[in-house]
Amino acid sequence: MKIKRISVYHVDLPLEHPYWLSGGRLKFEVLDATLVKVETDSGLVGWGEGTPWGHTYVPAHGPGIRAGIETMAPLIIGLDPRHVLDVERAMDLALPGHLYAKSPIDMACWDIAGQAAGLPIADLMGGGSRTPRPIASSVGAKTIDETRAVMDRYRQRGYIAHSVKIGGDVTRDIARIRDVEDIRRDGEIILYDVNRGWTRQQALRVMSATEDLNVMLEQPCETLDDIAAISGKHASPVSVDETLVTLQDAARIARDGLAEIFGIKLNRVGGLTKAARMRDIALAHGIDMFVMATGGSVLADAEALQLAATIPDANCHAVWACQDMLTVDIAGGRGPRNIDGHLHLPEAPGLGVHPDENALGDPVGVYS
Ligand code: MG
Repeated sequence: MKIKRISVYHVDLPLEHPYWLSGGRLKFEVLDATLVKVETDSGLVGWGEGTPWGHTYVPAHGPGIRAGIETMAPLIIGLDPRHVLDVERAMDLALPGHLYAKSPIDMACWDIAGQAAGLPIADLMGGGSRTPRPIASSVGAKTIDETRAVMDRYRQRGYIAHSVKIGGDVTRDIARIRDVEDIRRDGEIILYDVNRGWTRQQALRVMSATEDLNVMLEQPCETLDDIAAISGKHASPVSVDETLVTLQDAARIARDGLAEIFGIKLNRVGGLTKAARMRDIALAHGIDMFVMATGGSVLADAEALQLAATIPDANCHAVWACQDMLTVDIAGGRGPRNIDGHLHLPEAPGLGVHPDENALGDPVGVYS
């Protein structure tokens, strides 16, 4: 089987509510999505998606995905998409770095490999837990009252996992953490996502003031060096997310004990092939995981769910359904959807959902 054509689509995905990252630093209203159709000489077709969480969140540029695929395509055409490692090496040779540009191609190849094997991707990867994964909400609020209102809105839809965005004013962050812990329900999974918003000193102030609560804090500071510098000076469980990009990052975090949780985002780390190695490093070091799309449609959510299903249930806290935050649906309601706050692994071979091509418009690039 050979890849014979790659078609690239650009779609804007508007958010239902304008979204402010931790502390109100960054505002997002529309996500720049790239959908990729990979056709083979066997007739099998795979789909991938790359949707960064805006241009300002981390170094991942929506239009850069399309430019990157244009650069990589000549080295990918003709390869067997079931040999995902060969495709990965070809992409790494054609374009060092730029992992976010590679993930849609990797995803489409896994989709084809799954279809060819007659298995969901998770089963093909040797996992395949059918335990529904809790969906983490994304509580991008600022005040205590807003936080309560947004969390209640999610609870009414069945959510038991919440990512509460903090990382602004330290005093207000401490007050919001204490309030959320006051109203925390039994069994709820709550992650406080700082999105790099604190300096080392600010992080230590909050960690000290909330030490009795043992709350989980995600990406408290900008860099791994910052997180390493405060490591050992606090007792808070730490999740690392934005600074978990390469396999080398994963190895360092695990070896140096910088985090208790990996927040693996598929588009950021370059797709399933690379993320699976991070999963294994995590499991070998007693590190639990959140697995999430970086953003995007139900396709991106499905990809995250496939990887999550290869993680033992006890080590996978939650996934995320960005689809619930969008006003457009490019797959007509198909694919894994929120059922009482959880996503269920699709039984269809491959990724488990393809877009409605009519919803994508004309391709902006076709390579063959
Ligand atoms: Mg995060």
